[in-house]
Amino acid sequence: MDSCLFCKIIAGEVPSTKIYENEQVYAFLDINPVNLGHTLVVPKKHSENIYDISEDGTSALIHAGKKIASALKKELGADGVNLIMNNERAAGQIIFHAHLHVVPRLAADGFHHWKGKGFSKEEIEKAGDKIRPHLN
Ligand code: AMP
Ligand code: ZN
Repeated sequence: MDSCLFCKIIAGEVPSTKIYENEQVYAFLDINPVNLGHTLVVPKKHSENIYDISEDGTSALIHAGKKIASALKKELGADGVNLIMNNERAAGQIIFHAHLHVVPRLAADGFHHWKGKGFSKEEIEKAGDKIRPHLN
C-alpha cells in the first residue's frame, strides 16, 4: 500500500532497525520503545489489523513473536515479555498496518496492567452468552 509507513519500511524506502525477517514477516525496533528491545513484528503483506490478516499471516506473526520473545529474554535479560496487538483506534492503534508489539519487561520497570472495572458476575456471564454462538 503506497501511503503506508510500515509497507515503506518493509520495502526499505524508510529506514528501520531490522532485527529479523522471513518470507512472511519483518521485525524491527520501535522508534519510541517502552523498554530497550521493544520490537514490532509486521506481516509483509499489507493488512490493516487482526480482522483482515490471513490465518497464515496470523500464525507467522505469533511464531515470530515467540522467537523474538525468547531472544529478548536470553540476550537482553528481560524478566518478562508482553505480546500486544492494538486493533482499531479505540484500542490504541495509530499505525494501520497490522503489527505485534513484543515488549521486554523488567521486574522494576514500573508499568502496570489495566485494572478491572468491577463488572458483576451476571454481566460477565451475559457477555459470554453473546460471544459464544459466534465461535461455534
Ligand atoms: P500502535 O499504537 O500499536 O499503532 O503502535 C505503533 C507503534 O509504531 C508505536 O509504538 C510507534 O512508536 C511505532 N512507530 C511509529 N513510526 C515508527 C517508525 N518509523 N519506526 C519504528 N517504529 C515506529
Ligand atoms: Zn502497509
